[in-house]
Amino acid sequence: MKANCWIDKRKVRVEEVPDPKILNTRDAIVRVTSTAICGSDLHLYNGFVPTMEKGDILGHEFMGEVVELGPSVKNLKVGDRVVVPFPIACGQCTMCRRDLFSLCENSNPNAWMAEKLWGHSPAGLFGYSHMLGGYAGGQAEYARVPFADVGPLKVPDGLRDEQVLFLSDIFPTGYMGAEMCGIQPGDVIAVWGAGPVGLFAIASAYLLGAERVIAIDRFPYRLQLARERAGAAATINYEEVDVQDALREMTAGRGPDACIDAVGMEAHGHAAIYAYDRAKQALMLETDRPIALREAILACRNGGTVSVIGIYGGFIDKFPMGAVVNRSLTIRSGQCHVQRYMRPLLERIERGEIDPSFVVTHRMALEEAPRGFDMFLNKRDNCEKVVLTM
Ligand SMILES: [Zn+2]
Ligand SMILES: [Zn+2]
Repeated sequence: MKANCWIDKRKVRVEEVPDPKILNTRDAIVRVTSTAICGSDLHLYNGFVPTMEKGDILGHEFMGEVVELGPSVKNLKVGDRVVVPFPIACGQCTMCRRDLFSLCENSNPNAWMAEKLWGHSPAGLFGYSHMLGGYAGGQAEYARVPFADVGPLKVPDGLRDEQVLFLSDIFPTGYMGAEMCGIQPGDVIAVWGAGPVGLFAIASAYLLGAERVIAIDRFPYRLQLARERAGAAATINYEEVDVQDALREMTAGRGPDACIDAVGMEAHGHAAIYAYDRAKQALMLETDRPIALREAILACRNGGTVSVIGIYGGFIDKFPMGAVVNRSLTIRSGQCHVQRYMRPLLERIERGEIDPSFVVTHRMALEEAPRGFDMFLNKRDNCEKVVLTM
């Protein structure tokens, strides 16, 4: 089969690789019909995630048709159309039973690698390095899906791939980011990053009852998507105005009730602090550039919540802990427990409350994945979200 493989920093290639096989009685093989390139794939592309190896198959947002099942999978049939969540979860361990699926204790065979960096290991993920399980990803014609009796969600024929594909990651991730804000009536929420996850965080904050959502980015086309497609009441271009001043002005001086960081470790900025973080990251003295996170913490109102759904890999510097403690801030975070959200969010899609396909700007064939990565990374042609189809 054909698969999009990680080769080296800034280099991916579509290669001919062996077809996946059933290895466990709870596996399924899915013939992928649609798969997407995620912002977090760019962290792999840019070489910020350790334990990637030449030839690793990328991709953790995919859906398709079940073509083969292990004998223990009783809830699916060959021919079912399914969307697959990016965290791999057994459904039976202590974490899974608490609905903390991205922390499954049984799905990362390389847990020891993650423990070295993070103390304990989270779940294995599709197509996301060897320290997170070394699983082949879904930017391929076929994918092996472990614990297929737990993860994949059957989707109705009446919905197009693009309407349900993002249940695999970015819609639940954005939704969880908004949910972690504990939104109360009247709340103002600020979202750093109007990439695909940021757009879903904005739309979800409204679904959860926010009064007003403010989006922060530097690309005018992304801010336009935030306003026109995700419904943001206001946008801030941080290259034009001071974010702290603008947010204070919009919130009677108090700051947003909750702030969502949908940017993560490769944040961009233009002050001296950006040069400082770039230099330290380049020298490996700091693995991540937490510019959006620092800004979100400083902007948040006293007693408010900072919800972090942007991805961080390692260590950050100049973390404003004084603001957190002295202003009673709550910080919440996590890789999305996608399995928890798929069904209720599918119901919202079926009721017409949201059509997640609004984020898609580019569609191309799997073979064009390298061009898709380049376009998405460099924001060429106003690229917001690339879907690869077979
Ligand atoms: Zn993703
Ligand atoms: Zn588990």
